[in-house]
Amino acid sequence: MIRCDALVVGGGPGGSTCARRLRLAGWDVVVADRARFPRDKVCAGWITPGVFPLLDLDPAEYRATGLTMQEITAFRTSVIGASPVDTMYDHVASYAIRRCEFDDFLLRRAQVRVLENTAITTFRRAGDRWIVNDTIDTGVVVGAGGHFCPVARHLRGGTDTSDPVVAKEAEFRLDGRASGTAGSTPELFFCRDLEGYGWCVRKGDYLNVGIGRRTSADFNDHVRDFMAFLERTSTLSPASDLKWRGHAYLASGAGARPLVADGMLLVGDAAGLAYAESGEGIGPAIESGRLAADTLIALKGRSRAADLQPYAKALARRHPRARRTPAPLKPVFAAVGRLLLGSRAFTRHIMLNRWFLRASSLLLAASVLAPAAALAQQSAAAPDKSVATRLQRFEDKEEIQNLLLDYGRYLDNRDFAGYSSLFAKDGEWVGGFGSVTGPANIKTFMEKNMGTQPNTAKNYHLLSNFVITVNGDTATAWSRWAFVVPGERGATIAQAGRYDDQLVRENGRWKFKKRVASNDTAGPAARGK
Ligand SMILES: Cc1cc2nc3c(=O)[nH]c(=O)nc-3n(C[C@H](O)[C@H](O)[C@H](O)COP(=O)(O)OP(=O)(O)OC[C@H]3O[C@@H](n4cnc5c(N)ncnc54)[C@H](O)[C@@H]3O)c2cc1C
Repeated sequence: MIRCDALVVGGGPGGSTCARRLRLAGWDVVVADRARFPRDKVCAGWITPGVFPLLDLDPAEYRATGLTMQEITAFRTSVIGASPVDTMYDHVASYAIRRCEFDDFLLRRAQVRVLENTAITTFRRAGDRWIVNDTIDTGVVVGAGGHFCPVARHLRGGTDTSDPVVAKEAEFRLDGRASGTAGSTPELFFCRDLEGYGWCVRKGDYLNVGIGRRTSADFNDHVRDFMAFLERTSTLSPASDLKWRGHAYLASGAGARPLVADGMLLVGDAAGLAYAESGEGIGPAIESGRLAADTLIALKGRSRAADLQPYAKALARRHPRARRTPAPLKPVFAAVGRLLLGSRAFTRHIMLNRWFLRASSLLLAASVLAPAAALAQQSAAAPDKSVATRLQRFEDKEEIQNLLLDYGRYLDNRDFAGYSSLFAKDGEWVGGFGSVTGPANIKTFMEKNMGTQPNTAKNYHLLSNFVITVNGDTATAWSRWAFVVPGERGATIAQAGRYDDQLVRENGRWKFKKRVASNDTAGPAARGK
């Protein structure tokens, strides 16, 4: 029987990061992987700069090993068939690595016992320890086995309730093939329905080509069309004879699977943490591996499910559940999206900087360190003044401000489904019409009182003077509203008042717990604000 403090199932980036950090804190760690390293992983191998600080690794240190590391200073993006947009940076905006090299490097660097060729299949609880495969006796099991992780399967029991992203890629030495893709400039090709995208990422002599989609419907047709497109545009020639490798992963936010149990926790793809917008999963795997280790270290030997909740909560905050677009709206969103992807400003600031490059590495690192640090300081009475806490509060305020504005937008559009979704499950609305509790009741109540006809009068709310105070997972807000009615002689403010709000973070999103709408003007219409 092998005995250890922690067994990490899976030696990918999430597992090796967690293992290394635990080992540095003096833990006796074993990593078990069903593969023999170096092993490859179906992946484009694109990493954001924030990944290196999370690994405590300088890019120069990695480059010095002689392993492939392509610096990326631009992106070429397009909707398939439309003109491309080139976005240039005056610094290295990203890197591309080869997973067969990168993962092996990280695992060796962890300097822990590695059981290769060892597929983990069974878990048995014995007191406060786990007996794994009847051969490993461990205090803690970290599930880092990717999408098909056996620990995740053990925790969730049944099947996933969210649909995974399906993806295929081929990575090969260019030898004899012609490629128009420059190493410094990966190319992204968005499907016309915006349900996925294809890519060409050059890494020195190698090219990685692939496509991923949020739905498996007609997936092989999309792959075939994409290949034909690459050949037709001379992006890659020939392209139709590539040897594809497929894989799946969840990218719908934390909570799709249970994240913790007594002596067990999930990291990376096992927890379903890849970002919905970009599909980036290496960064989240490393970040969560690090956070898992820091949580365990701070707990000083405690590892009951209740002890591990701060880890689950931190992941839920960092990876809120992705909003799904209602099916009838998808064509509308796709049409708007296609237009936006032709805009240089949108492409740079929103699509690339915000969704693909995910703000700054500092923000990423700071938010990782916060929960573990908070855990360690749990007994300390002094308020946490760390950068991470202040950043979190700043982000919370921004999200709450958007919530207050969405309220007005939905109301003015008479979209009471959207309007009611802004309330917590026990959220309450109080105003001139009376009071009502719960999103479903609020929807019916507003439809009855305001009507469901389109707002042909084009009246609207002006919302201002926000005062928002955040306190952990609850907040209060105060703001002013004015109701504007356009007329032949210009617009007039027909009514005005204020909102007093109590807010709560529910499943990672801010919602109204209670909204009290007061009217400072008299009059019969001064009601449903
Ligand atoms: C086509 C494609 C392209 C992608 N491109 C990118 C990209 O460019 N950039 C990016 O950031 N992300 C990308 N991703 C996502 C990224 O690959 C994953 O999010 C990332 O690898 C997750 O890391 P991980 O450590 O959680 O798991 P993995 O890297 O999947 O590692 C899991 C390990 O667990 C082992 N294992 C599995 N089952 C068992 C078992 N029963 N017993 C023991 N060991 C087991 C596996 O052998 C493997 O070594 C892509 C994904 C796909 C499918």
